[in-house]
Amino acid sequence: MTFQKCRHPTAAVTTLVPDFCDSLTSLFLFLSTTRISATAARAANSRAFAVTVTAQDYDFDLVIIGAGVGGHGAALHAVECGMKVAVIEGGGIGGTCVNRGCVPSKALLAASGRVREMKDADHLKMLGIEVGDVRFDRQGVADHATNLASTIRANLTNSMTSLGGERLVGNATLTDNHTVRYGNKKVTAKNIIIATGSTPFVPPGIEIDGKTVFTSDDALKLETVPPWVAIIGSGYIGLEFSDIYTALGSDVTFIEGACWGFPKSATLFTAPL
Ligand SMILES: Cc1cc2nc3c(=O)[nH]c(=O)nc-3n(C[C@H](O)[C@H](O)[C@H](O)COP(=O)(O)OP(=O)(O)OC[C@H]3O[C@@H](n4cnc5c(N)ncnc54)[C@H](O)[C@@H]3O)c2cc1C
Repeated sequence: MTFQKCRHPTAAVTTLVPDFCDSLTSLFLFLSTTRISATAARAANSRAFAVTVTAQDYDFDLVIIGAGVGGHGAALHAVECGMKVAVIEGGGIGGTCVNRGCVPSKALLAASGRVREMKDADHLKMLGIEVGDVRFDRQGVADHATNLASTIRANLTNSMTSLGGERLVGNATLTDNHTVRYGNKKVTAKNIIIATGSTPFVPPGIEIDGKTVFTSDDALKLETVPPWVAIIGSGYIGLEFSDIYTALGSDVTFIEGACWGFPKSATLFTAPL
């Protein structure tokens, strides 16, 4: 099996490119690739779309399936336009961004970035600053991310309901163009927006155990800071986690189908293993 190794010059990061699956069964590994959820298949590429029909007697002018940032934003806009709106959510309000994406990842980046800065004794010395031993509480860093997500989730929920949008809870399925079933209930609407987002994509042949092999969803929990992490996928999500985990002390190996996955500004050293 052949590998190409692309080493980042400034961080403890290495990238391996193709032919990886066989050799990685015992590594700390998480997946940062994304797949559109099955129910979102019709919401091409995570973009919401609306099914418009003629007006009749419906429970709502608009029912939105999914209360991620897409569904939530659409709900606020529709309520402001005077529509009677309900949002059906099967997971947490705020969806990926608030619960498993932008918000907790930026919280982890903020905390881990400070650890990195404060450990850079040479740079600090140039600034005339001396620090002692820099330590961090892994659980404290993880809790910071979880708490921030909870606060924003609560704010989003309040903003929607206080404006008059109705929140329905359950996994929704379309019965027809005007009817949505959730749990053992159903609701009718003149218009329906499907905003069901995406979930992490796990490549075939890889088994997730949530402990040594996990997706970005579990990586955000920061349950461990392993000495070595292999990250499949070097898009922005993989890069963010590389930043977080290397700042906290892990070595990172990227496994990527093509080196162009890195930002063009990054210089890569490549060598056969
Ligand atoms: C680690 C990470 C970091 C990220 N950082 C950024 C960033 O910095 N900036 C940025 O712009 N984007 C970022 N993203 C991407 C961003 O999170 C997504 O683009 C965004 O969340 C998509 O919003 P959405 O509303 O379309 O879908 P989602 O947020 O996925 O929301 C869809 C919602 O629909 C619900 N749902 C699904 N099916 C059903 C059903 N059948 N019935 C009821 N409810 C259902 C789900 O529970 C979910 O709550 C990041 C993603 C990750 C994973």
